[in-house]
Amino acid sequence: MSRPYQICTRCIMDTSDPEIVFDHNGVCNHCRAYEKRAQNELFNKKESEIKLNSLVSEIKRNGKNNEYDCVIGVSGGVDSTMVAYLVKQLGLRPLAVHVDNGWNSELAVHNIEATLKKLSIDLETVVLDWEEFSDLQIAFLYSSVPNIEIPTDHTLPSILFRTASKKGIKYIISGSNVASEAIMPSNWVYDSRDLRFIKTIHKQYGTVPLTNYPSCPIPRYFYYVFIKGIKYVPILNYVSYNKNEAKALIQRELNWRDYGGKHFESIFTRFFQGYFLPEKFNMDKRRPHLSTLICSGQMTRDEALSELQKPSYPTELFQSDYDFFLKKMKLTPEKFDEIMKMPVRRYRDYSSNAFFFMGLKRLIPLVKYVVKPKSLKHSTLPNNN
Ligand SMILES: [Zn+2]
Repeated sequence: MSRPYQICTRCIMDTSDPEIVFDHNGVCNHCRAYEKRAQNELFNKKESEIKLNSLVSEIKRNGKNNEYDCVIGVSGGVDSTMVAYLVKQLGLRPLAVHVDNGWNSELAVHNIEATLKKLSIDLETVVLDWEEFSDLQIAFLYSSVPNIEIPTDHTLPSILFRTASKKGIKYIISGSNVASEAIMPSNWVYDSRDLRFIKTIHKQYGTVPLTNYPSCPIPRYFYYVFIKGIKYVPILNYVSYNKNEAKALIQRELNWRDYGGKHFESIFTRFFQGYFLPEKFNMDKRRPHLSTLICSGQMTRDEALSELQKPSYPTELFQSDYDFFLKKMKLTPEKFDEIMKMPVRRYRDYSSNAFFFMGLKRLIPLVKYVVKPKSLKHSTLPNNN
């Protein structure tokens, strides 16, 4: 039986997250969880300056004999562009890595090229084997789980760690951040690091052997982190990160161009977030994204509610993206319709290492405590944002 509709009185999360709970003031568990993360992972202005200076000195010191002292991932999006800008401002010597999964929009390509040229940052692009990768994406579509971004999300940190390890670089500077993406219902997503889950779905629905797919089993992450000493640094948590200010700055300084919604630089992602998730699963990712901005003081609740009134997909984009998506995935409209109507499934319906990852989540604060370098409040395995 479905529960009565309720929306948080502070943010805009609602009962479309079936596990949401509200306190006696009508404030939801996500707001409380945000407060806790902000307290643990963000700094006040004075503290952040000290920590950031110390972190930068540490990165420079450890990388002084290397051509690059850190690796950054670039997608053409706001967060990764901001990271590129910031590390150069701080005097670091980054190597940029871009993973081309075949779904870049023209704007994403423009943004990457313009940013790196302006900042004089070297780029390594890793192009995924399209036959394999698209087969894995189609397998995820047929699996009927909501998390069809997992094939991409798994491979990004795999490639960043592999590159850092190969080149003897000790720091991966990440754009994941608390201020704009902390809130996400756990039942809307699943841990993209779980290679067993990926292999299960591939075995059941895939048709092309996965031989070139850049994957990373958990023991290899432990090797990178504990043996090679590579640290994953969410640097935007060290500055006062405001999305609109960041956009204005990179537009002004780097000729960066806006593409609309969060992660809309990828055609796959905007089709997934703008159509597939809301239509099939009743999940509108704008809710957690906007709720995070409310909690971090970047937007009022009224502004977020009026933003939500707009269509989840820019009308002028939808039809061309729909046609492009089907053509690229080699799906007929009838076949895609069939996929959209298939019963919804969850990660629990497939073999996975969920038990391990749940345990890891509880263990991670301890791991952070044990391995964090002096200047780092948080340095650990890549998270699942
Ligand atoms: Zn809330």
